[in-house]
Amino acid sequence: MRENDTENLMVILSSPSGVGKTTLTKKLQQKNRSFKISVSHTTRAPRSNEVDGIDYHFVNKEKFLKLKKENKFYESAEIFGNYYGTLKENVDKGIKNNDIIFDIDWQGTKQLSNFKNLKLIKIFLITENKEELKNRLKKRNQNTNNEIENRFKSFDEDIKHWSDYDYIIINKNLDNCFRQLEKIIELNKTKKVTVFSHKSL
Ligand code: 5GP
Repeated sequence: MRENDTENLMVILSSPSGVGKTTLTKKLQQKNRSFKISVSHTTRAPRSNEVDGIDYHFVNKEKFLKLKKENKFYESAEIFGNYYGTLKENVDKGIKNNDIIFDIDWQGTKQLSNFKNLKLIKIFLITENKEELKNRLKKRNQNTNNEIENRFKSFDEDIKHWSDYDYIIINKNLDNCFRQLEKIIELNKTKKVTVFSHKSL
């Protein structure tokens, strides 16, 4: 797929819930018009600020499982009791004219990595420590106490998978984090090779 310097990028951004991934992906799309966010399908109920077709394609479980059975997803996962997945058709269309950023978890990243024709840049975002994550989840005010607890608990499982990624960014400050993300993208835009390491930053 990527044979010259101008080929489009597929950037995966994963993190434990609440680290700032959604803010970063949105900022990237606003600042860098070449980037489109991959809009996943999910069976989760929309939050009050979310719009169908923009934040997610909200579908019921039946529709999701039908798409899965028909092999329409590049990847899918069950997370916090809901299904999430990336539709092949959307990615294949999008990558023709745009770079794509994926806000997906480690399970999806593993599955996408199995498609050897997809040249991915995998970035893992973490907070400095667990307490910082808990503060962020509380401040975000989008989840019930129970949901916050579940998301917090999944932190240990999530960070076990950091070594599957090409780059790790520690989110101490969102602006710095964004600059690092831009730097990674810039580096990969001008490189021909597809195996990278955070050591090259
Ligand atoms: P949220 O419910 O907070 O929007 O997302 C919960 C988790 O699901 C986040 O870690 C997010 O990255 C992940 N996620 C969102 N869409 C997808 C997807 O299509 N596939 C996978 N594997 N994970 C996703």
